[in-house]
Amino acid sequence: MSPAAKAFTDWGLDSALAEAISSKGWTTPTEIQLEAIPVAREGRDVVGQARTGSGKTAAFGIPIIEAASASGKPQAIILCPTRELAVQVAEELSWLQGESGLSIQTVYGGTDIDKQATELQSGSDIIVGTPGRVIDMSKRGHLNLSDISHFCLDEADRMLDMGFFPDVLWIFEQMPVREQTLLFSATFPQEVLDAAEEFMNDPVYVMSDDLEVEVPEIDQFAVRIGRSNKLWVLGRLIANMGDDDQMLIFTNTKRMVEILEDRLGKFGMKATGMHGDKTQNRREKILESLKEGKTKIVVATDVAARGIDVDGITYVVNYDLPDDTESYVHRIGRTGRMGRSGQAWSLVSKEDLGALDKIANTWNLDIPYVEAPELPDGMERDPVRKRDDWSEVTDPFGMVSVSLGIGSATITKRSLADWIVSQARIPEIALGEIEMETTSATVQIHVEKASYVIDVINKRKLDGNSLNPTILEL
Ligand code: AMP
Repeated sequence: MSPAAKAFTDWGLDSALAEAISSKGWTTPTEIQLEAIPVAREGRDVVGQARTGSGKTAAFGIPIIEAASASGKPQAIILCPTRELAVQVAEELSWLQGESGLSIQTVYGGTDIDKQATELQSGSDIIVGTPGRVIDMSKRGHLNLSDISHFCLDEADRMLDMGFFPDVLWIFEQMPVREQTLLFSATFPQEVLDAAEEFMNDPVYVMSDDLEVEVPEIDQFAVRIGRSNKLWVLGRLIANMGDDDQMLIFTNTKRMVEILEDRLGKFGMKATGMHGDKTQNRREKILESLKEGKTKIVVATDVAARGIDVDGITYVVNYDLPDDTESYVHRIGRTGRMGRSGQAWSLVSKEDLGALDKIANTWNLDIPYVEAPELPDGMERDPVRKRDDWSEVTDPFGMVSVSLGIGSATITKRSLADWIVSQARIPEIALGEIEMETTSATVQIHVEKASYVIDVINKRKLDGNSLNPTILEL
């Protein structure tokens, strides 16, 4: 029997858990669950490599719930990098615990501290929180960490990125009777491995070969396009979405989230922006609406998107390429979840070229360059018109290189320059270097005149020949 054929019922789980899982309709554990749950149930520390969408929440949730009892005292704490993730983890744990009577409490910033304190005082067994607020609540005496036996770090690499490691260490030190530590991460930078060493006792590593990041197996494409036409490509991608598709568009800044939300709206494509400055309430509403399939398109920054766990996302678009290579993997991990098909599109301008190269090399990915998708059948007009964009072909001195076919051997650099200047009536300074080859010449033309000069050359003949000007890529 292949390991994947193992069923939840084979484990003899605690009855409340077993019932909850079966009424949810889950039958087979995912890979990470299959590997992590048995060792965690034995009480071993576990370091697990898992991305969002792999079923990691239940991988640590099931053993934690099984070990907890409804005593009203915090026995387990799960730390998450974002409020959204904490909410999602708590939601999953809440239904998983079924009728066991366990109280699962979230503790995260940005919400009423007194309300959270009252809830904590009413008794809770499992805490799911973000580091800052957990520390705060513990310092204020609302949260007692001293009886915690089970500690879990979710998305450890994100915690590291967000600078939470000192906080995590502080929390860790408040747990003298800790028995088990579980750590989950999509990637394993050295600091995460060091932390695993420090926090854990002879852990079992459950991860793919070579500590490589798990790159989701989804179709990835890149479109080479100047900044000013990224919106045109995005319009085409949106035009190709089916009724059941949902799209997550990534930009690198909050400002860009807003600009894009606004501009898409102006072109009749409704998109919702999501970034750290939106209130917790608003973000939860957006997530809810995404899950219900009401919201189809969300524009987000990496940080804001971390908590997004929506199975219906079928398109991820990198409007901007991320600065670090791991973010790319996190981004594309938002689609193709639970085996659904998904596609990731990167819009690559001149400035993004290096980033895409680095991403492809780091993760050994094949991200083919393709043309923007065609408009779907029956759609005549682009949602956003394509514009002339010289930025991609202009050198740092403002010159565009244009190749001309020359049929006559008598043409020299000088005569060609004179001809262009006289035909187009432009100052000679608008022309840069000219290079002659046997049947062609390359002429540099200043970007301000390029479009016009090309037009003129297209309409005229030199010594009876058409010159067929072609703009050269840099
Ligand atoms: P996660 O990686 O924990 O965010 O889980 C991704 C999604 O898969 C969530 O919606 C889970 O509820 C769901 N899920 C996790 N494990 C299973 C399973 N064994 N069978 C079916 N769905 C699952």
